[in-house]
Amino acid sequence: MARTLIRDGYIITASEDYRADLLIDGETIAAITAPTTSAGQHATGRGESERDGVDRVIDATGLYVLPGGVDVHTHLDMPLPATTTADDFASGTIAAACGGTTTVIDFANQYHGQTLAYALETWHRKAAGRAAIDYSFHMTITDLPHAPAAAMADMVREGISSFKLLMAYPGTFMVDDATIYQVLRRASELGALTCIHAENGCVIDLLVREAVAAGQTAPRYHARTRPAVLEGEATGRAIALAQLAGAPVYIVHVSCAAALARIQEARARNLPVWGETCPQYLFLSEEAYQAPDFEAARFVCTPPLRTRADADALWDALARGDLQTVATDHCSFNFHGQKELGRDDFTRIPNGLPGIETRILLMYSGGVADGRLGRTNLTSLAQREITTSKRSRWSTATGTSSNRPLQRFVDVVATTPAKLFGLYPRKGSIMVGGDADLVLFDPAGETVLSAATHHQRVDYSPYEGLHAHGAIRSVLLRGNLIVANGQFVGQTGQGRFLRRSTLQ
Ligand code: MN
Repeated sequence: MARTLIRDGYIITASEDYRADLLIDGETIAAITAPTTSAGQHATGRGESERDGVDRVIDATGLYVLPGGVDVHTHLDMPLPATTTADDFASGTIAAACGGTTTVIDFANQYHGQTLAYALETWHRKAAGRAAIDYSFHMTITDLPHAPAAAMADMVREGISSFKLLMAYPGTFMVDDATIYQVLRRASELGALTCIHAENGCVIDLLVREAVAAGQTAPRYHARTRPAVLEGEATGRAIALAQLAGAPVYIVHVSCAAALARIQEARARNLPVWGETCPQYLFLSEEAYQAPDFEAARFVCTPPLRTRADADALWDALARGDLQTVATDHCSFNFHGQKELGRDDFTRIPNGLPGIETRILLMYSGGVADGRLGRTNLTSLAQREITTSKRSRWSTATGTSSNRPLQRFVDVVATTPAKLFGLYPRKGSIMVGGDADLVLFDPAGETVLSAATHHQRVDYSPYEGLHAHGAIRSVLLRGNLIVANGQFVGQTGQGRFLRRSTLQ
């Protein structure tokens, strides 16, 4: 097995940071030892490597060594009635790798009339032989009669230890409250986590029909017909149903203060409730919908972009630990030919933004370099220590992390996602025995985000021209160098399906 020495890096985890050498043997981390500097030795490469019994030395002087990112919310090769996402499992995972993400959890969707086994098989076929990084799936349930308890148990046995329900999109993905309650109850019995897209789909559907009837067909009406109050209402309802079911619940893509307040209130009551947000809700705002003509279609996603005050509330919640993860909801459609399907009718604009490649850079840049993850309310942190200790059944998923920005950054992009979704400590960590999924990150670098240079197979970037602090230099997946000097040097098909464990 190949042995790689990563020399003199600055290791950053969700709880610590320290200088060290890191020895990789095969696919896992074999040792973490006191640092040796290249300056202090005659680092002539080959000779020294042979002496140390390693095949390759990577000099990480001046670089951060981060655990590979874990993005638990992606949509790759996802069909809609009119079109399919621009990125498939090859292009999407190459982009993810270049952005420092080494594990994705995508959504396998059960469509009406299909079994869960069929949906899982369909998504396995999409990913196998194409994924460049490791992957798993959540199972989206839309048709409960075709998803009996035994089928859910089969999924968990297959390593699919999380389910997804949508409270939006009536007629396709939306499920009713009784279905939500039943899935929550069954999932909890199986030790599985239920993810919920919380928006009041019925009222939104009415607002959309009224807008279209009134001739309000421009992209900005997508946002106007999905107000924050309806995300807040559905988030509260999802939490109430989970409480009744005695089930843990994970709210995906929290976009606004109204939804956040429901999560904070539930966590203050010690309920096992977790919240995810996405970079678009932190870095962008509803002002994007003021773009002239059809340009605003680039920013049509669900939930829509909200106010700057909402974004500020989300940053503060991430810093305090009231939100626990940052995922992307990567769901890319080209502006030309795909977003344009809705040129005369916003309801035909495919919903979604690209972002699988930019998550870690943006969270470092905004969260650490610009300090947005540093506004920690110490009273809240102290309270959280107490509530966490009481919630013993969920202890593996609620470990507290330091309040320092670097630790919060690693925690929200890698460690807590891995813990919540049954991948820790193999993923989301830097520890002996764990997978050698590592990012060599240059905190002194700068990266200009642009469609001209990104690896996502989509013709625009929502962050075009943004100067992000930091740069991703190299990425290793299970000890294999897959990104070198910012360029993909791995292979599609080398990603492995990950069977995930249940919540403890
Ligand atoms: Mn999504």
